[in-house]
Amino acid sequence: MKEECKFSTTRSAAIWFDDGNVILQAENKKFRVHKSILALHSPIMNDMFMLGKPDADMGSDSVEDGCPVVEMKDDSASEWEELLSLIYHGYRVTRPNEALSFVQISAMLRLGHKYCFKPYRQEALERFVDAFGSDWDTVVINDEGDIDTDKMRMDDAHSWSDVVNLAFDLRIRQSLPLVCFNAIAHKDYPSYLFEGTEEQKRHRLARSILTSSDNFSVLRAASIYDTCEGEDCQGALTACIDRTYAPKLDVAKGLMIWDDIDSDGLCDRCKEAAQTDFEASRDTLWIALPSVFGLPPWNALDGGHEVED
Ligand SMILES: [Zn+2]
Repeated sequence: MKEECKFSTTRSAAIWFDDGNVILQAENKKFRVHKSILALHSPIMNDMFMLGKPDADMGSDSVEDGCPVVEMKDDSASEWEELLSLIYHGYRVTRPNEALSFVQISAMLRLGHKYCFKPYRQEALERFVDAFGSDWDTVVINDEGDIDTDKMRMDDAHSWSDVVNLAFDLRIRQSLPLVCFNAIAHKDYPSYLFEGTEEQKRHRLARSILTSSDNFSVLRAASIYDTCEGEDCQGALTACIDRTYAPKLDVAKGLMIWDDIDSDGLCDRCKEAAQTDFEASRDTLWIALPSVFGLPPWNALDGGHEVED
């Protein structure tokens, strides 16, 4: 008599090949695939299938349609679906120059790390570090508070906390400061992140530190107006600060660039002095950014983006 199934399972529509010779099951989803294809991409899968009885090692002894059913413990069904889609469908689902969705990146990184799908892991890691690296010249924050990147796009099924968790889980250290920064700078913060957890408290603290930093503070010092040639640069500066920070302080503005600031009314000399000081403040904030999140300095984070084995 058969043991009663704990969960009803479904077959993946896209990843079910009638001539497949192994069935992978992640959560309650099954994928009928080919041992040889998986072994080609993953040395761990290769070793597993070489043993002849993969199911024995993977804690499952069931057979379906003549195929062993291998249970992929602790893996996400959606991530296996994405990775297998990339392997089997390739350019039909994504093209090399297109941004990958977060779930694709996450699948390539997590499963790539666990089962050593090396080229997939490497591609995802390069894209992630490119999107959230330590070079602030490449960082673009859009009006929504999201970091714009042509390497990765968010999908509807995931929130920014998933991005933070991915970076922490796989120790992609170089990306942590910017991933954390964007978490608290987002316009919808904190409703979409970390409700009721320790993480929320930590990010609230970081946010209060960042909002107290004001890139214009040095511009208030009268000494920079010693060479002023304008009529009312002090008044123009006040108006500029109002325009920039009203109606509310926005953490993301801590890293905004000078070109995005409307400095009308300042004379050329004050404008130049203002830009110099503004950019020095921005540099200071950037240098301090890792420490806000309890991380070591940038130079200790750089080059440490290879996930641990
Ligand atoms: Zn002036």
